[in-house]
Amino acid sequence: MTNREIFLRNVAQTSEAPLCLEIIRAEGCKLFGADGSEYIDLIGGISVCNVGHRHPRVIEAIKEQLDQYLHIMVYGELVQSPQVKYAQLLTQHLPENLNSVFFTASGSEATEGAMKLAKRYSNRTQIISFKNSYHGSTQGALSVMGSEYWQQAFRPLLPDVLQLKYNHLDDLQQITERTACVIAETIQAEAGVNPPKNDWLKALRKRCDETGTLLVLDEIQCGFGRNGTLWAFEQFGVVPDILLLGKALGGGMPLGAFIADKKIMDVLSYDPVLGHINTFGGHPVCCAAGLAAFHVLLDEQLVNTVKEKEQLFVSLLTQASEALPVAQHPVIRSCGLMIAVAFENFEKNKQVIDGLLKATAAGPAVFTDWFLFAANCLRIAPPLTISADEIRLACKRIAEQMLLVNAS
Ligand code: PMP
Repeated sequence: MTNREIFLRNVAQTSEAPLCLEIIRAEGCKLFGADGSEYIDLIGGISVCNVGHRHPRVIEAIKEQLDQYLHIMVYGELVQSPQVKYAQLLTQHLPENLNSVFFTASGSEATEGAMKLAKRYSNRTQIISFKNSYHGSTQGALSVMGSEYWQQAFRPLLPDVLQLKYNHLDDLQQITERTACVIAETIQAEAGVNPPKNDWLKALRKRCDETGTLLVLDEIQCGFGRNGTLWAFEQFGVVPDILLLGKALGGGMPLGAFIADKKIMDVLSYDPVLGHINTFGGHPVCCAAGLAAFHVLLDEQLVNTVKEKEQLFVSLLTQASEALPVAQHPVIRSCGLMIAVAFENFEKNKQVIDGLLKATAAGPAVFTDWFLFAANCLRIAPPLTISADEIRLACKRIAEQMLLVNAS
């Protein structure tokens, strides 16, 4: 049997049509396939590999930690230096009120922990989220997901959850003194790149302050420089009460976190004691990797390169779209290196995605994807280390595929 056949038989499937590419190595912005194919990676594990695949400093840090210890004890009991150093560095780069880090093993668990923290701290039960938001796939996180399509098969979900429209000022009045927390992505990612507009986020912050509601911002996808500032909330003049991190947090290893003020966070330690616990949260190897990746992000000043790279992408994609008849021009939305190219429908997008997977005379194969709530949009969220040449090559291939698909 081939690996592909075993994958389809013995590895649980999440769709009826997995891509089934077998990747045997990844380096920087490139993936290498078992069949000898080379891909420019335009999605970096869905916003995980911000410093590129296998950055030497990340690999070095992992190796060093392997020589010290792997797992030694459930989270929260022992002083483990990779956790301590990482929590210290993260909080040094966050506003003063975000000073206590609860490490988890995934982004979904960060969402779960934050919702529990908000309920416990406020003694309230209602949780408010927004249409087209994604906060994870576990039951609690699914309860605040902004999509009936993904929720309906799994009801009943958490009670007392209300969904409002993102970017709608009027809806904010529905936040009241019985709302424990409002959870929002600072920039909605799976909606196909949807940033907050016209001071809506400021109005949300104000309404939360008026009602004593905790504001939870999910930067699991948009954090760590992806949008041109270290944290996306910096661009909108607000600071959350609880920040959710994941994906790039682990530098390619599984790691999540919810971060709050110590006086809020401390309620998880009594009544009941061990109010939120896990075995693998803040795994020492993951923290060592994440810490090294964060140092790379800072030392290589990658965040400062994002806007320029975004502009190069957008100008090349705009040129590519202008080669099509006006009615076929895709809409391009971008927030730093989180870019969506919106085609008329999923079928067109999928044809482009599939076409990009094979090298042609125009350039190498390109690996990309669509968005959960915007299946007509091509996802571009490469490692922040992507070079101008790689951007040019990838865009040449996208231009070629757009023309081909349009002519078909
Ligand atoms: N929030 C956002 C904004 C996400 O993009 C994701 C993952 N796509 C999650 C939460 C959940 O993270 P995980 O898949 O690590 O559970």
